[in-house]
Amino acid sequence: MEPTAPPKRVLLLMSPATYRAGAFLSAVETAGVTVVQGVDLPAQLTEFWHVPLGVDFSEPERAADAVVTFARTNPFDAILSVDDSASLVAALASAALGLPHNLPGAALAARDKGVMRETLAAGGVRCPVFRRFPVSSSAAEVATQVTYPCVVKPLRLSGSRGVIRADTPDEFVAAFERLRRVLAGEGAAPGADQILVEDFIPGVEVALEGLVTRSQLRVLALFDKPDPLDGPFFEETIYVTPSRLDPATQEAIARCVQDAIHALGLREGPVHAELRVNQQGPWILEIAGRSIGGLCSSILRFGTDVCLEELILRHAVGLELPSLEREQRAAGVMMLPIPRAGILRGYRGVEEASAVPGVEGVEITAKLHYPLVPLPEGASYLGFIFARGETPAEVEQALRTAHQRLSFDIRPELPMLHLTPASSPSMQA
Ligand code: ADP
Ligand code: CA
Repeated sequence: MEPTAPPKRVLLLMSPATYRAGAFLSAVETAGVTVVQGVDLPAQLTEFWHVPLGVDFSEPERAADAVVTFARTNPFDAILSVDDSASLVAALASAALGLPHNLPGAALAARDKGVMRETLAAGGVRCPVFRRFPVSSSAAEVATQVTYPCVVKPLRLSGSRGVIRADTPDEFVAAFERLRRVLAGEGAAPGADQILVEDFIPGVEVALEGLVTRSQLRVLALFDKPDPLDGPFFEETIYVTPSRLDPATQEAIARCVQDAIHALGLREGPVHAELRVNQQGPWILEIAGRSIGGLCSSILRFGTDVCLEELILRHAVGLELPSLEREQRAAGVMMLPIPRAGILRGYRGVEEASAVPGVEGVEITAKLHYPLVPLPEGASYLGFIFARGETPAEVEQALRTAHQRLSFDIRPELPMLHLTPASSPSMQA
């Protein structure tokens, strides 16, 4: 008998709060690989997390050096960032170790919306007309230099945080100031010193999930986003696949994403792209070198019940891939936006929502008794509803019905804040 080769090893880079860790870790066994976890932690906290490697993702060069040093005693075959947070670290360290990956320049272009727009425009890919302004600019002055309707957005945040539409100069000033306050909270983080302003592109929105091998895109799933996303804030809600767009439009979308992959120089690994489609055709809003965020991937099944993370792990280490054909049935997910700021005191209806035919799961991820921050400042969701059905329309309806059965008790303030100085002796002089 031939000796069996030891399983390939993947370094999985993840931030402590990512929604994506669980899905990757539970796919490890079936993928036939082993993983080492590298977490965005100060080195002195690593032992408490029981992970072998702690690195600071906010300093990509130093973090990559730490990965390279670690690899001397703990070699691995590939580095994978589970989300956007470490895509640059993974690219830098892979380049240093000679592992297959996107080049650092491409990883940066897929991470920074300003670089992305410049690179796409230079590559002739249709994307919104854009300009960048220092965050310290006079909002009133910038308001006279842009065209309407437009969208202001940060360079490096995600999940629609800080993305605001403005139809008039007055709205623009308010939006710019509001984004400035969000960015002030980011301190000196890379990209927090500029604001991107671009044309608002009307149309329907789709998301494409793909896998890139030697710069060639393979489409894994195309999702429609059936809720109108007209602003002023852009809460992600329903994703349903397969898309109901006609085949020619779907092909045009895939070609547009392939063009964007070439323009950015993405070579290997998962891509998640968001596009708007109108009479002029598809427009790239965003393309990232990662897989779909949140818990959304759990509705994707390929070939004989293979999950997305298994495909990504196997692809990363060059193992043969099983079928990339998504199952026949329609599938969808609803991300539950936070409707208003406050403290989540409780919620009801999970059982009733779960009982809706087609609904396969309802997961409330928001913490009880903890402040909820809605968009455009916030970055999280109340939870997720997952559904499958014979048609996309059936799945969409199941998600909406389930959502109606949920109710959330969000109280505006902490009880403590009701104390006025007069009723609170300790506050008196
Ligand atoms: P993030 O990385 O935070 O998700 P995006 O650039 O993808 O930021 O924007 C979030 C959402 O805002 C998009 O999915 C889309 O609905 C809306 N949006 C962003 N830019 C535009 C634009 N130029 N025109 C129309 N809608 C936009
Ligand atoms: Ca996005």
